[in-house]
Amino acid sequence: MLKTTISCSTTLAVKPALPVSITHPVITYFLLAVAAFLAACDSSPKNQTVIVSGQTMGTQYRVALVAEQAVDSVALKILLEDQLAEINRQMSTYRDDSEISAFNNSASTDWFRVSPELALVSQRALDIYHKTNGAFDASIGPLVNLWSFGPAQRPLTTPSPTELAARSRDVGSDMLEVRLDPPGLKKLTPGLQLDLSAIAKGYAVDRLATWLIESGYNRLLVDIGGELRAMGTNQDGRPWQVGIEKPEPSLQRSVQQVIALGDKSIATSGSYRNYFEDQDKRFSHIINPATGYPINHNLVSVSVIADDCMSADAWATALMVMGPDMGFDYALQSGLAVYMIVKRGEEIDILSSPRMHGYLE
Ligand code: AMP
Ligand code: MG
Repeated sequence: MLKTTISCSTTLAVKPALPVSITHPVITYFLLAVAAFLAACDSSPKNQTVIVSGQTMGTQYRVALVAEQAVDSVALKILLEDQLAEINRQMSTYRDDSEISAFNNSASTDWFRVSPELALVSQRALDIYHKTNGAFDASIGPLVNLWSFGPAQRPLTTPSPTELAARSRDVGSDMLEVRLDPPGLKKLTPGLQLDLSAIAKGYAVDRLATWLIESGYNRLLVDIGGELRAMGTNQDGRPWQVGIEKPEPSLQRSVQQVIALGDKSIATSGSYRNYFEDQDKRFSHIINPATGYPINHNLVSVSVIADDCMSADAWATALMVMGPDMGFDYALQSGLAVYMIVKRGEEIDILSSPRMHGYLE
């Protein structure tokens, strides 16, 4: 879990690891309240931090900007949320009318025309699937649903081996083809379903950050549910600081490690908050595609720093699947900047790769 520092104090940004979902009426009400608040102070003094925040993808987003000119935060919020809404229309498995749901619901094995953005994210997902020997697998959807972490409702109980075997037959990104021009997806088996929850938040962070940079901002921090991308310096002229959260399931959040992010992205995957329990066993929302079972090891949190947040997001999930030993070896061999928290009884161990050291405060 990550914390962001806005102006000089460190404040919390949450990462409940909830997947992409539609806006709830309560959230709409909350947005109206925020809009009313912002309308009362709709432009900022020069070089002061402006924060725009709201709900998206089942979590909170927050954009912090430091600008020479006054910022109309009400107008900015509308433009940012237009883009988030578009990403949800493309990639949310929680919407029946999204592009990804249309692809998932189609039994056709012909090329399926999609937006360039959905093709791009699917292509990166496929790329990381190959690089991680299948640990990251965006075709995991049927198993995520079976284990009750997806949009399909089912009781929070352990599935039977027969159910698991049946669903596993449709899982495997070897049965997915992606092309960018013209943008399209193709399933080689009619039951294949995509779940981009482990990469789409990071992509959304990149998209907002890129749009802000193209709009002329160069001091910014974008955060969606704890996946972040920073550029330039904060209000005090220092690199944006973020904090990796202590791995505790409680709502009381505290910082394990402060990170000076620079012009980079960071994403965290954790097993300590999103899980269910059945007969005293704890089942995480991250599934090991090799077994069909939720991960079951003592690595509780993985943070990855990368240039782009989409990659950081996917790597963090992949390393979480690999576990502490294989995951850390993989990070060392691939030159990834990672910070892992491993639980040993009541104690915790930290594994941080050499590439990460320069970011630790
Ligand atoms: P994250 O919080 O970014 O690690 O993403 C976790 C989400 O990704 C889960 O809620 C699932 O929807 C999905 N997921 C679970 N296991 C995997 C996996 N092995 N590869 C890719 N996505 C996964
Ligand atoms: Mg992820």
